[in-house]
Amino acid sequence: MGSQNKIERSNLTRQVDMLLPQLLEAVTAVLKSGKYVLGETLKTFEESFAEYVGTKYAVGVASGTEALYLSLRALDIGAGDEVVTTPFTAVPTISAIVMTGAQPVFADIDPITFTIAPKSINAVISSRTKAIIPVHLYGLMADMDAISDIAEQHAIPVIEDAAQAHGSQLHGRHAGSIGLMGCFSFYPTKNLGGFGDGGLITTNNEKIAEKLFLLRNYGQTSPYTTTINGINTRLDDIQAAMLLVKLPYLDKWNQRRQEIAEIYHQKLIIPEIEISIIPEGYKSNYHVFVIRAKQRDELWNYLEDNGIQANVYYPLPGHLQESNIHLGYSKGDFPIAEEASGNVLALPMFPELSNEEIDIVVEYIHKFYAINKIIPE
Ligand SMILES: *Cc1c(COP(=O)(O)O)cnc(C)c1O
Repeated sequence: MGSQNKIERSNLTRQVDMLLPQLLEAVTAVLKSGKYVLGETLKTFEESFAEYVGTKYAVGVASGTEALYLSLRALDIGAGDEVVTTPFTAVPTISAIVMTGAQPVFADIDPITFTIAPKSINAVISSRTKAIIPVHLYGLMADMDAISDIAEQHAIPVIEDAAQAHGSQLHGRHAGSIGLMGCFSFYPTKNLGGFGDGGLITTNNEKIAEKLFLLRNYGQTSPYTTTINGINTRLDDIQAAMLLVKLPYLDKWNQRRQEIAEIYHQKLIIPEIEISIIPEGYKSNYHVFVIRAKQRDELWNYLEDNGIQANVYYPLPGHLQESNIHLGYSKGDFPIAEEASGNVLALPMFPELSNEEIDIVVEYIHKFYAINKIIPE
């Protein structure tokens, strides 16, 4: 609306501009190698990423969704089984469970951290529960101490959905290194993003790793021989090559995201806005920066009208999606997730966001609430 601002929620080309020569060189090397699927470049990336996360193994796959699906398949989870997860997550956490034939069972979130609440997990565990999938939402890890305790008590494996948590930590341990498996996505907007789709599973368990290597490659133990039925979901060597270029920058980029979050925290002291503090012992990679805002939709529109992109993750929790009607949930079942859906707003956040741009975002949020003062009843 005639605004001269243009501040994106996320911008990918600034990073490309910086890395273009290195990216082209890496891609050229793969092109010239003649090996594009399950080649040495993929292997090198898997080893590098495993080392970064602190696990023995990493298995590259074609997307984060398939990382989740394959991790469930590695545990032989399917029809008749239940998998406990959060309703406040990206769609694929849930669809990956449904794809195996198992039934997602939801547990409500914690109102401060937005991640699955351990006590809600306890309440829904049954004899059919075969896995728990906590999601490290917005870059903040779920309460893995409490979740690991519950899982151990019931002898249920934990699969971390770490698609938003590259580099996030809890007591110095990386996301993806605590559960039996950790699932990552390299979708372009993730903290470590490729140039297309990609994903990966981390694990310390040798048997699981072996099974995942089979499952991602038709189940082939040797050419044209299978012992289990797998699918085709492999991380391309071209993507691996570009991810290898970007991996050494990940910590630096996450640090800049933390700086940006710090600035937002300091400058957004407004009664109509709530910003969660990161709990002691946790390090967020600030995949997104989320506030809870009064008059959220009006604020969102106002920012949009003034050239500032914000976004809502997620406007409709999983238990209320049409695709999940068969699960039998209804409105009111998970009030904390439902409330969050109604008031969260993600502000522009990416490492190359400038301090000047942050100031403009802050200025317009202040303006909005100055104009729309809520008069106490
Ligand atoms: C992005 C994302 C996924 C899925 O990753 P894709 O690579 O897009 O398939 C899964 N879970 C969460 C929480 C995500 O944010």
